[in-house]
Amino acid sequence: MPKSVNVQLSQLVFPKTCAVCLSPASKEYRQEGTITYGRRTYTVHVQVPMCESHYEAAGYKSPAERLVNWLAIFGGGFFGLLCGILLIFRWETNEHILFKLFGGGIFALGVFAIFWWIVTDSVAPLFASARSKEARTAVRILHYWPQNQIAQLEFRHESLADMVQKTN
Ligand SMILES: [Zn+2]
Repeated sequence: MPKSVNVQLSQLVFPKTCAVCLSPASKEYRQEGTITYGRRTYTVHVQVPMCESHYEAAGYKSPAERLVNWLAIFGGGFFGLLCGILLIFRWETNEHILFKLFGGGIFALGVFAIFWWIVTDSVAPLFASARSKEARTAVRILHYWPQNQIAQLEFRHESLADMVQKTN
């Protein structure tokens, strides 16, 4: 049964146990979560202990996942360029051409960044292998309260959640 606990991030101590299979851990996988609180977005990370083989599984990118990451770059570049060019041609006020090029460039970069971020962050992980997904979701960051830096973590293994709770 998964179990969630609230922890103070600065004092978070994991037992040296693989979060996936509960065997002795020798590595730490950086787990990131993007949490929206109020109007701001926070990127929170925790170092999840893992055994060698699950650490590798968590970091492994399947061929499909890598392909989607490439598509994110090319797709983002294509749409960004297209939007930038459209903006420059449709710009009806009489600013200097350099100003328009600059504005178009910034706009193109913005479109690229948004497209790339959405695809790599939300779409590519869907194509991960089952074993990677299993390892990457052993500990999930559900919430974060920035005022006191408390995060709510969900553990797949209840026993690990209990151990973390005791040491915090
Ligand atoms: Zn393991």
